[in-house]
Amino acid sequence: MSSTQSAAGKCLCGSVSYIIKADEPLRMAQCHCKDCQRASGGGHMALAFFKADDVEIKGETASYAATADSGNVNTRHFCPKCGSRIYGENSARAGLVGLSVGCVDDNNWFNPAVVVYSKDRPSWDKTSTDIPNFETMPPPAK
Ligand SMILES: [Zn+2]
Ligand SMILES: [Zn+2]
Repeated sequence: MSSTQSAAGKCLCGSVSYIIKADEPLRMAQCHCKDCQRASGGGHMALAFFKADDVEIKGETASYAATADSGNVNTRHFCPKCGSRIYGENSARAGLVGLSVGCVDDNNWFNPAVVVYSKDRPSWDKTSTDIPNFETMPPPAK
């Protein structure tokens, strides 16, 4: 995998941008839960998780907090002008942010390790079944 260090990203209108200071994500996943489908407008969301301290965000985001069926609160941060979902935070994983990979300028390094909420995968959205697929959310990684 090529390094994500110094990778940059931004929303559709450019009001919100960021720089990733870590060498690589802590975790990469594709999530098919209905909340991610609605938030993305697609069949899943592609997420790369980093320590919040390793992602330097410029610009103001608006946010929306929703309680997942796990009982954890997922707060999605998006550009108040264009609506691009920039990152999310989860009450179960304090200090981590899940970046929407589509907003990263060059995201060819993305290589998901897991597919979660495969129970909600639409028949037309073909994510890999060659990597671990979890019906819902697996137990937190160490
Ligand atoms: Zn924007
Ligand atoms: Zn989800």
